[in-house]
Amino acid sequence: MIVVMRLDSGERELNDILERLTELGLTGHLSRGVERTVIGVVGKTYPELRDMLELFPGVDEVVPISKPYKLSSREFQPQDSIIKVGPLTIGGDELVVIAGPCAVESEEQVVETARAVKASGANILRGGAFKPSTSPYSFRGLGEAGLRILARAREETGMPVITEVLTPQDVELVSSYADILQVGARNMQNFILLDEVGKAKKPVMLKRGMSATIEEWLLCAEYILSQGNRQVMLCERGIRTFETYTRNTMDLSAIPIIEKLSHLPIIADPSHGTGKWYLVAPLALAAVAAGADGLMIEVHPTPDSALKDGAQSLTFENFHKLMDQVASVAASVGRKLAGSTKG
Ligand code: PEP
Ligand code: MN
Repeated sequence: MIVVMRLDSGERELNDILERLTELGLTGHLSRGVERTVIGVVGKTYPELRDMLELFPGVDEVVPISKPYKLSSREFQPQDSIIKVGPLTIGGDELVVIAGPCAVESEEQVVETARAVKASGANILRGGAFKPSTSPYSFRGLGEAGLRILARAREETGMPVITEVLTPQDVELVSSYADILQVGARNMQNFILLDEVGKAKKPVMLKRGMSATIEEWLLCAEYILSQGNRQVMLCERGIRTFETYTRNTMDLSAIPIIEKLSHLPIIADPSHGTGKWYLVAPLALAAVAAGADGLMIEVHPTPDSALKDGAQSLTFENFHKLMDQVASVAASVGRKLAGSTKG
């Protein structure tokens, strides 16, 4: 349930309620909006609690949240969450573009890609150092050496970096290098990992599980939020369907659905969403038109010889072309590319 505070209530009234909730073994999560301050009550709530909380001075009303996910819902927080990464904001008016190779292969490959995608207007560099793999025989990443390469590319270009964290034990290490932690599709429901990234002080991008419903996905975001980390963004990366022509079926409808149900930013990943490089541009543009807050695009200097996901990776040239088109579509839906001076 959520406790909506009166406009004229102060810190003292707020603290009294938070203390009472703690005494009752519940947790109060604060959301201070421009129009109202609310407390999201998490834990085992019961009908009498509502009557009791309504007696507190400063309380306007107590409303049950109808959804199983609470802190990620629009009911708890009507205004969009905005995540700050250096000078960038994710989830606001600007469209953010994350680009880079699937896997970190070498310093040369990453730095060259970082320079190229930055020159085309990308804002954040991606690259996996710890790679989840369907097959144990495919490339599993360079590990910490890969993280060092990402840090090097950040030094060279000034771009913040996002990279995947595979295990709860690696959260500290990956956080010491990354600007954003990625939780991959295969780990969406790794609840111990979610708890751990929930305690981290870094933004987290939670990718949708291959066969996850939107509700399951939002409940996973809830794990992170309920540990105190409010810097969560979601990433639609395609789901498994009966169709085999594409690697996954990019669920574009998830973008406006998330927008309706949740205040969390939503990023679209048409690279994993389709698995084919020539489908990346059309689906990227469609995702922007559908309201995505950002794109994640795999780019490689030589996709033919990539150690991972070459078939879905764009060349520098194709990425450059795509960025021009993205700028036009973004403008037509009232958005501007982050960091762009055009338009
Ligand atoms: C990735 O981003 O490289 C990745 C492994 O994605 P996913 O978890 O969506 O498969
Ligand atoms: Mn990949």
